[in-house]
Amino acid sequence: MDYNRIRTILIRKGEQKMTRQRELIINILKQSDRHLTADEIFFLAKLKMPSIAMATIYNNLNAMNEAGLVKRLHIDGVADCFDKIVEPHDHLLCDKCGKITDIKLHSLTDTLEAEIGTQIEDYELTVHYVCSECRTGTRRR
Ligand SMILES: [Zn+2]
Ligand SMILES: [Zn+2]
Repeated sequence: MDYNRIRTILIRKGEQKMTRQRELIINILKQSDRHLTADEIFFLAKLKMPSIAMATIYNNLNAMNEAGLVKRLHIDGVADCFDKIVEPHDHLLCDKCGKITDIKLHSLTDTLEAEIGTQIEDYELTVHYVCSECRTGTRRR
């Protein structure tokens, strides 16, 4: 999602300007190829803006999640993390190192609805596996 679209969405939602803090959080998520926890975002944000508070990070992440700019992931046994990709996709979770990887499957919505016989609102799928680095032992811990 590009910057101008994010700005437009926020302005539509009655926010006059994007705060510097929010801009920073968006940039951190954009520059990362991973799914970051609030703690990790806080750590990275503090490098750039030493005065930033954890509460500011939480508040912004919550607001951005509600506005659909980021997606909060709940995965059992793993700290909540934030996804810059808000389009529907599923996740692979390595049970050894906890790495989360995006996976695009054909939507299961039709299959699920046919099975249940009614419309579904949403689903979250996490596939547990052992990643190739852990399998071959190349990942340093
Ligand atoms: Zn792994
Ligand atoms: Zn993802």
